Amino acid sequence: MPDDWTRALAIAAHPDDMEFGAAGAVAAWTAAGKSVSYLLVSRGEAGIDGMRPEEATKIREDEQRASARIVGVDEVEFLDYVDGTIEYGLTLRRDLAAAIRRHRPELIITFNHRESTFTGKWNSPDHRNTGLAVLDAVGDAGNRWIFTDLGTDPWTGVRHVAVAGSPEPTHAVDISKTIDTAVASVEAHAAYLKGLGLPPGAARGPLESFAAGTGERFGGRPAIPFELVNV
Ligand SMILES: [Zn+2]
Repeated sequence: MPDDWTRALAIAAHPDDMEFGAAGAVAAWTAAGKSVSYLLVSRGEAGIDGMRPEEATKIREDEQRASARIVGVDEVEFLDYVDGTIEYGLTLRRDLAAAIRRHRPELIITFNHRESTFTGKWNSPDHRNTGLAVLDAVGDAGNRWIFTDLGTDPWTGVRHVAVAGSPEPTHAVDISKTIDTAVASVEAHAAYLKGLGLPPGAARGPLESFAAGTGERFGGRPAIPFELVNV
């Protein structure tokens, strides 16, 4: 995984997307002194079957902030799109380009934009639409003649875009020192995990076996995989 960057912006559709894909890598990067900020397109309010969205909104936001703090991320922003109905389009591209111009990251992290998940299931429209808009917004952010009304300077400094949760990973980050932190960041989504019917402690096993399986393919140590996209 490239190391020639100091500022990253992670953009995902929902609270918990980073934790199920990339938080162990984020913990390794922040421990090494790099800066990572999170931008969530929605507050994940449609993610708990037994809880109405108006109640879930604040809980999901609080759990995401706590989870981010565990892996060394202090800045968490929300765009307030409606969970479950995030559409690909100019509105989303514009909001994401604005965020990229504001944060000026060298690395963008996002979540799987492809049709399938890494387990072969059909991917959620929120993930597909957000991921595609992120990939497009990197170019938008660098072109001063696109979204001129934002009143922001273009940012052409994005060197890498890393997609977590992709079925086609190309790189990986060693999380042998941060796996406990990664587990804790998943467990910070306590109400969400409870809503899925998962008992406390259920996150560790799947995360460890996923990291071990990734390690078998990339370098031999527990790792989190990413697909690097040339944008
Ligand atoms: Zn999600």
